[in-house]
Amino acid sequence: MKVGFIGLGTMGGPMARNVQKKGHALAVFDVNRASVDALAASGAVAAASPKDVAAASEIVITMLPDAPDVERVALGADGIVHGIRPGAIYVDMSTIDPGTTRKVGAAIRAKGAAMIDSPVGKTADAAAAGTSTLMIGGDADVIARVRPVLECMATDLFHCGALGAGQTMKLLNNLLAQAIGEASVEALVAGVKAGLTLDVMMSVLRTTMAWNQHLAVGMPKRSLAGDFKPGFMMKLAHKDCRLAVSMVDALGVKAPVGHAVLASLQEGLDKGLANDDVGALLKLREEPAGVTVRLAKP
Ligand code: NAD
Repeated sequence: MKVGFIGLGTMGGPMARNVQKKGHALAVFDVNRASVDALAASGAVAAASPKDVAAASEIVITMLPDAPDVERVALGADGIVHGIRPGAIYVDMSTIDPGTTRKVGAAIRAKGAAMIDSPVGKTADAAAAGTSTLMIGGDADVIARVRPVLECMATDLFHCGALGAGQTMKLLNNLLAQAIGEASVEALVAGVKAGLTLDVMMSVLRTTMAWNQHLAVGMPKRSLAGDFKPGFMMKLAHKDCRLAVSMVDALGVKAPVGHAVLASLQEGLDKGLANDDVGALLKLREEPAGVTVRLAKP
């Protein structure tokens, strides 16, 4: 199929490459020329604008940071909506709020095209391996048509409901995952400060309800090994939790834990950690405690 890909960063770059590897023709665009050149070197067409990507594509994919970026790329002066062909499908894989998704979807529908939302779960490593989780919103027949392309990027695909339902699921997923991660950091830093060893804590936690994927996989690979390069930038984690908390608030559901998680991420941004991996919250808790929590080097 002719696939267009806009937003070729940490996630979009490897995802586009996986689509290309499976033999689909690719037209690409990013404001960062270097990431366009990297894909053009392996045969992708470098388009001049989102509008030109859309005009050349049966399926147009975006993987952008935040909702205003998606609105600009989809609906702006040189946006997707001005180039998309009748019958084509627009797939937004960025993590944004469901309200913006539905607004963009209406404009795309007015051009005789269709939209689905398909935000991405798991990590940048999973995106590179083509084993992501996708949380999809939209009509089942439209999803069936793009499934072969989505399967180039993901192994766990879930139809969550109507357009926007993928984003609702993704925001709640990230709020929960972040809460578990932050509680894990607090417990480990407090434990070391109290004189426990990391080894003892991990051995005990592994056997109880406290065990989780941050402790099992994420933290040993990154923060507990002293690696704070992104990965998943703290400013994106903050954006996800901000959108999630405002969605939960608007539903009238009380979210004291969600608000605490958001405040903690804001503290990280205020301390200059916006472009570090979100795992740098470990440093934020270690420094005032005067301890360092690291796995022994093998
Ligand atoms: P990133 O900042 O690395 O990449 C975003 C890309 O979009 C960049 O290459 C940037 O140049 C490009 N871009 C920004 N504005 C643009 C515009 N107007 N036109 C064209 N290109 C533009 O971010 P990322 O980590 O790849 O995340 C992308 C999305 O995926 C975010 O919504 C994020 O929350 C979500 N996500 C990230 C991860 C992760 O682990 N990094 C995991 C799951 C979901």
